[in-house]
Amino acid sequence: MIRLTNIHKYFGKTHVLKGIDLTVGKGDVVAIIGPSGSGKTTLLRCINLLERPQDGEVTIGSLHVRCGAAKKSEMTLLRRKTAMVFQQYNLFRHKTSLENVMEGLVVVQKMPKEEARRRSLELLEKVGLSGKADAYPSALSGGQQQRVGIARALAINPEVILFDEPTSALDPELVGEVLAVMRDIAREGVTMIVVTHELNFAREVSSRVVFMDEGKIVEQGTPRDVFDHPQEERTKRFLSRLN
Ligand code: ATP
Repeated sequence: MIRLTNIHKYFGKTHVLKGIDLTVGKGDVVAIIGPSGSGKTTLLRCINLLERPQDGEVTIGSLHVRCGAAKKSEMTLLRRKTAMVFQQYNLFRHKTSLENVMEGLVVVQKMPKEEARRRSLELLEKVGLSGKADAYPSALSGGQQQRVGIARALAINPEVILFDEPTSALDPELVGEVLAVMRDIAREGVTMIVVTHELNFAREVSSRVVFMDEGKIVEQGTPRDVFDHPQEERTKRFLSRLN
């Protein structure tokens, strides 16, 4: 289970997250939606302390970290429990798909190379890229690179995968293949938190939708609750502008 308690984040004097509380259960798929600048990406990056909140607590499984006083060792442990899929893929350019997926297993988890190779090949097959194991990122489409990014995240078997707008850098015709892979892994019970502008994906795949505005969670519930029966005026306005 993941729990965020009273998370506050400032950039200089700007108060970007204003007391966020969020609990995510095992196997949950949580979509975080909301207008540009509402703090979605910052919130995601606070979960693994890529951004360090000034106040609040993050709990992942048995590890509990007070953000204001987090030790380096605690931050390292917390990061190892999570994996992130970035908007810009963030693959190593000089490594093949297979080497990108193997990296965390060999370097961080110290898995023997042969075993890491076998597991990574299985994962590349899962994301539909078994034929591209030896290709470098420059020879892959954006959708293929992002699927390598997802295989890399799955490889380390994290407690949660954090997706930061994973399709927003893609050409429209490549979005579907990435969402299809995400849909598959959601069905397998992987815990996922997804910042997304893909409201159809949020509606179809997530178990819970969290709507943020101005650094706060305005409303959350099942996709049906939030999309079909929003309670808050702010949510209604956001959704009506998109229809
Ligand atoms: P979008 O949908 O456009 O990606 P978002 O909801 O993810 O937006 P964030 O990227 O979390 O919003 O940004 C929230 C606020 O924090 C914005 O006002 C942004 O300008 C500010 N911000 C984000 N990162 C930084 C930073 N590194 N330094 C200063 N301000 C930042």
